[in-house]
Amino acid sequence: MQKPVFTLKLIESKMLSSKVRHFSFQIVDNPEFTFLPGQFISLHFNKKDGQPIKRSYSIASIHGDETNLDFAATFVDNGPGTEFLFNLQPADTVLASGPYGKLILKDRDILPKRYIFIGTGTGITPYRSMLNKIADNLNNQNHSTLILQGVQNPDDLLYASDFLKLTEKFNNYEFRAYYSRYKNKLSKQYEFTGYIQNSFSDIKLDNSNDVIYLCGNPYMIEEIVGILKTLEFNPKSILREKYYSKKSST
Ligand SMILES: Cc1cc2nc3c(=O)[nH]c(=O)nc-3n(C[C@H](O)[C@H](O)[C@H](O)COP(=O)(O)OP(=O)(O)OC[C@H]3O[C@@H](n4cnc5c(N)ncnc54)[C@H](O)[C@@H]3O)c2cc1C
Repeated sequence: MQKPVFTLKLIESKMLSSKVRHFSFQIVDNPEFTFLPGQFISLHFNKKDGQPIKRSYSIASIHGDETNLDFAATFVDNGPGTEFLFNLQPADTVLASGPYGKLILKDRDILPKRYIFIGTGTGITPYRSMLNKIADNLNNQNHSTLILQGVQNPDDLLYASDFLKLTEKFNNYEFRAYYSRYKNKLSKQYEFTGYIQNSFSDIKLDNSNDVIYLCGNPYMIEEIVGILKTLEFNPKSILREKYYSKKSST
């Protein structure tokens, strides 16, 4: 079924890191709008030459606490979506449709022993929208959750304070940040150097107990899916959402 098109009004935006901007929109004319944590919306706008295009963004608003529809966008050189978004001013409007997407949480009655949520760059944002649901799941002591965020440097971390909040409340929850380009000494317990894949030697992936979510960079996703295949993971235990295709980035 076709999703309705509705209007978003920009309330505010701010840089979260040197390349990523957080956008907060009011939904103007769709009071019925609801989403499942992990879903995305599409923006509809015209390129400079007047051609209509769409670009998708994962909803970053924490489901259950949301007042606005928030997402985070990475600055991409010469990208029409980037050009459009990064020039928006408060009170500007844009058409949107959605929500879309299947990177959503399974029902509580089929909660796996462990969820591992993996995201690079803005690919971490769908898990932010899941935080209340993740907290609810963690009340079950037979379950645990691990969130792995991959970025280049500490300054690129997104929404770390939100992800770290749950560590104060739950001993069956862990958040780790992996810095692929950082060579200096690390000062915080949740920090690691290298790619997310470096965690696999000590988190002990288990094909009978783990459900893995992957979001963001297609190279990371394909490499990790390859590793999971060699570990004989059931494809149903791997959920993924690529933000762009490998071919388009060459
Ligand atoms: C389901 C889905 C959800 C998405 N959610 C988000 C999101 O929450 N935040 C977000 O920033 N983007 C997200 N994207 C990507 C987004 O839709 C745009 O592609 C991106 O904003 C760049 O748009 P553009 O028009 O400026 O450049 P495009 O013409 O779309 O892309 C130009 C090139 O830039 C590269 N690129 C595209 N997106 C990224 C990126 N995020 N990081 C690094 N390089 C990139 C690719 O090589 C691509 O070929 C999502 C994509 C999909 C399919």
